[in-house]
Amino acid sequence: MSAAADTPSPETPSAEAQLAAMADGDKAAVARALARLERAPEAADTLALLDAAYAAPRGQVVGVTGPPGVGKSTLMGALIRALRGRGRSVGTIAVDPSSRRSGGALLGDRVRLLTDPDDRHCFVRSMAARDRLGGLAELTVAGMVLMRAVYDVVLIETVGVGQSETDVAGVADTVLFCVQPGSGDSLQFMKAGIVEIPDVAAVTKADTGPVADRALADLKGALSLSADDAAEEGRRAPATLKLSAESGAGVDELVAALDDHWAWLRDTGDLAGKRHAQAADWLRGALRDRHGREGLRRLGRIALEPGASPFSRLAELAATL
Ligand code: GDP
Repeated sequence: MSAAADTPSPETPSAEAQLAAMADGDKAAVARALARLERAPEAADTLALLDAAYAAPRGQVVGVTGPPGVGKSTLMGALIRALRGRGRSVGTIAVDPSSRRSGGALLGDRVRLLTDPDDRHCFVRSMAARDRLGGLAELTVAGMVLMRAVYDVVLIETVGVGQSETDVAGVADTVLFCVQPGSGDSLQFMKAGIVEIPDVAAVTKADTGPVADRALADLKGALSLSADDAAEEGRRAPATLKLSAESGAGVDELVAALDDHWAWLRDTGDLAGKRHAQAADWLRGALRDRHGREGLRRLGRIALEPGASPFSRLAELAATL
């Protein structure tokens, strides 16, 4: 054995080695990396880690959205248990609607209470909803990219308050929309034009019986109206189901529907294209935040090569301004 092998290296491990350690269950390293991301988003080591994470995606990103009280947090707990039961590692980002940490429990804390703190392969993190109008916080995207390289499934929970359904579609591979029985959500759903966004639409609280059955029938009816449009545009009509996070009924079907969408995304070859488009949008938004519309105008067309990391591209473009 060489001397170098048994004396600890004074150098920080490579970004790839750090990601491998995180994937191996080092949750403290994930927490440290996320903290570093917040404190020094543009530092060289942060960029190196994000670039490495962007280049090596591992998991499926599932956005979970729906109005307050629909049962998202309870469902997240049930879904995390179901995924862990299948041996998959899960990273969760709970996007808190209030950007200030005051009053009320953070969404992430509610989810965390439903998970096992000693489980090395289940990580939960809260993040503030937005640092700019019309988009999820920039850090949410960076955090997602990091977790996507580490965990088999990344869940992003957002409260459905109008814009957030569209926001979550900008970061997720698969969008799960939760519908509350007896709320008329499925009609709202049509009106708000978010009918195109979910890949899976689930009526929650199926244990409430007939009211949940009616909500599912309404939902199927609402979606069938747009099924033809979906087919014409080459989209996939959303899967619909009902479940009860409390009794566990329907949770296996939900996992199957999420898996099914994931398989479809990979098989059609659309996954890379979808992620690239999300990265390009993110880059544009980040540049607009930093340099305003005038900055965007000066940059002209903002090219992002397929597969190129938006994080180092942002640093490059910002340096030219
Ligand atoms: P969120 O605001 O969307 O995160 O919703 P929560 O998970 O906090 O749940 C809101 C309320 O619905 C709570 O009182 C839960 O106990 C209740 N709830 C959640 N899931 C179920 C379910 O499967 N069945 C029933 N009957 N109630 C549920």
